[in-house]
Amino acid sequence: MVTATLRPSTVLVNETVILHNVAHALARLDAGTELFAVVKADAYGHGLLRVARVAEKAGATGFCVAVLDEALALRQAHFTQPILVLGLIEPQYAPVAAANHISVPVASAAWLEAALPLLTSEKLPPLAIHLAIDTGMGRIGFQTIAQMQDALAVIGKQPECFDVAGIFTHFSTADEKDTAYFEMQARRFNAFTAALPKRPRYVHVSNSATSLWHAACNGNMIRFGVAMYGLNPSGHAIPEVPYALEPALSLVSQIVFCKQVHQGDAISYGATYRASGDEFIGTVPMGYADGWLRRMQGFHVLIDGQFCEIVGRVCMDQFMVRMPKAYPAGTPVVLVGQSGDQSISLQDVADYSDTIHYEIACSLAARLPRQSVAPIE
Ligand SMILES: *Cc1c(COP(=O)(O)O)cnc(C)c1O
Repeated sequence: MVTATLRPSTVLVNETVILHNVAHALARLDAGTELFAVVKADAYGHGLLRVARVAEKAGATGFCVAVLDEALALRQAHFTQPILVLGLIEPQYAPVAAANHISVPVASAAWLEAALPLLTSEKLPPLAIHLAIDTGMGRIGFQTIAQMQDALAVIGKQPECFDVAGIFTHFSTADEKDTAYFEMQARRFNAFTAALPKRPRYVHVSNSATSLWHAACNGNMIRFGVAMYGLNPSGHAIPEVPYALEPALSLVSQIVFCKQVHQGDAISYGATYRASGDEFIGTVPMGYADGWLRRMQGFHVLIDGQFCEIVGRVCMDQFMVRMPKAYPAGTPVVLVGQSGDQSISLQDVADYSDTIHYEIACSLAARLPRQSVAPIE
């Protein structure tokens, strides 16, 4: 992927804000409870290595990623902390994980059976595994204690190949006001941990939402994701948070072309927008190939502290806005962030496009360069 560094469209990442968000979360944890920074999907679009470095400085003692390649990228950048891959890997890659001291989830005895011969045949450290328990998320994990015990029996055949380093589950409703389903999942998880012959080093259930609103359940490690980036995991559902979440990401560009159009003049593909009189139209060099989706037509950006409507269809690499006056090429455009007294949040963008801020942040393409603001040290 080519990153467009010679174009003014840029994702700005405020490192100091991330540092504070992590520090606030850590301050609420019981002594001995660790925070693993969830940096999957290029740190939710914020930049994997930059965020990992800031999280480490803030006191994160490990990382969670989605896929093995992300874990290897951290190892290549010389991060030595524990790394947990959250998604299942194929058994054939178990030796790669072991060799790089990367922990992986296990959700079946069959997976262990398939990985076992690959781990004995090489001079490898034991593969660190975390038992994934499906308490109601319905995604990955053991559904019954019997299934988990079958897996432990496979491990028992050659215990030197595996290190049972953790047990975990994932809540599906931790960001909702009604806690009944959450409590059911927590009860189920407790039954699984009680059935283990030995408590592993890491017992963890908390994503950001759980850490914010169900802190009693934290176990001895939290998987801290979206709140590190300053986003409320619930969207609007639970506005009350124990500490202020400050968004770390802004998205900026510049006007590259300005023109005046007259009544009836059309803008962009399909000629869906017609000027209703004399209007100033600015062109912004970003489009759906950058993750600024077509459905953003009719939304707005900020120019000089004023909301300007996105008019006409968003193109692959450019879109147009209606401006209150002629703003020349080079005028700053804020798509997400602050301009004058006004601001646009990722949540606003998500609301307009009928999705969640997680999806907007992750959709920002690799073509957009990431630039640090307020860098730490
Ligand atoms: C992505 C993920 C997290 C982090 O969730 P946030 O809501 O971003 O805090 C935690 N645990 C698992 C299993 C995940 O997949």
